[in-house]
Amino acid sequence: RGKRAFIAGIADDNGYGWAIAKALAAAGAEILVGTWVPAINIFETSLRRGKFDESRRLLNGSLMEIIKVYPLDTVYDTPEDVPVDVRTNKRYSGASNWTVKEVAESVKNDFGSIDILVHSLANGPEVTKPLLETSRKGYLAAISASSYSFVSLLKHFLPIMNPGGASISLTYIASERTIPGYGGGMSSAKAALESDTRVLAFEAGRKGKIRVNTISAGPLGSRAAKAIGFIEKMIKYSYANAPLQKELLADEVGNTAAFLLSPLASAITGSVVYVDNGLNAMGLAT
Ligand code: NAD
Repeated sequence: RGKRAFIAGIADDNGYGWAIAKALAAAGAEILVGTWVPAINIFETSLRRGKFDESRRLLNGSLMEIIKVYPLDTVYDTPEDVPVDVRTNKRYSGASNWTVKEVAESVKNDFGSIDILVHSLANGPEVTKPLLETSRKGYLAAISASSYSFVSLLKHFLPIMNPGGASISLTYIASERTIPGYGGGMSSAKAALESDTRVLAFEAGRKGKIRVNTISAGPLGSRAAKAIGFIEKMIKYSYANAPLQKELLADEVGNTAAFLLSPLASAITGSVVYVDNGLNAMGLAT
């Protein structure tokens, strides 16, 4: 049979998660999706009504099938962690079993095992604030949603991942070079995510023969990126200064993810792989 992938962090057809799903589907993988609880209704409705049909089309002409969409909030590991105000919030009360532990259990009950785990999500409530103006609460929220979320997903899914499987996350160069505007502790969260990639590659490699890598992606006008506010400027900067002066397509990140998640990359683990038209290699704006 083909490989089975669980992709956390898809809520529309614009982001990197969607492009990764398509590249995996084109390679024959079965696609399961985890969608942020407040966004799942509109995502599933749009899917059902055919709003994404054009962007579901693969190179061979067929449409990507999403086998199942699970509600997910990676800020909470177990039901005991969910505060009453969230549990009773009307954006959450319609869904159930959406903490990380419960979603892993549901996937196990529904399908038994997976081969591929994708983390394509981030959130920093104070992302528009400089680090010097970021509150402790905002900083910790960014780390919780954007870094520990990966630790938690891997921890809970590892027991149902087939040996030889692989996982991936998405990071950004603001972890290692100062990018003014990428605030709220999001730069710190990406630094943690990259460091954790190395430690988790060791631990998951030894424990379950699972590989762990992260893609440092260039700028894309996704929903999350637009919320930060300076994405158009970053896209223009990249176009002007990168070695490859072309638009960066989400599919280029999707294709790299499919490679890293496939047996073609069987000796690659613990790596940060740049998919950014080469911008990371530059030391001077041109
Ligand atoms: P996106 O909006 O498509 O994806 C982000 C997703 O995270 C959304 O679907 C959102 O609903 C989900 N999410 C947020 N908080 C969540 C939570 N607590 N639980 C579950 N889901 C949650 O945007 P994107 O830009 O494609 O982001 C995907 C990844 O790519 C992120 O890690 C982002 O930091 C990274 N990235 C993006 C860029 C860029 O320029 N867009 C560049 C480098 C890295």
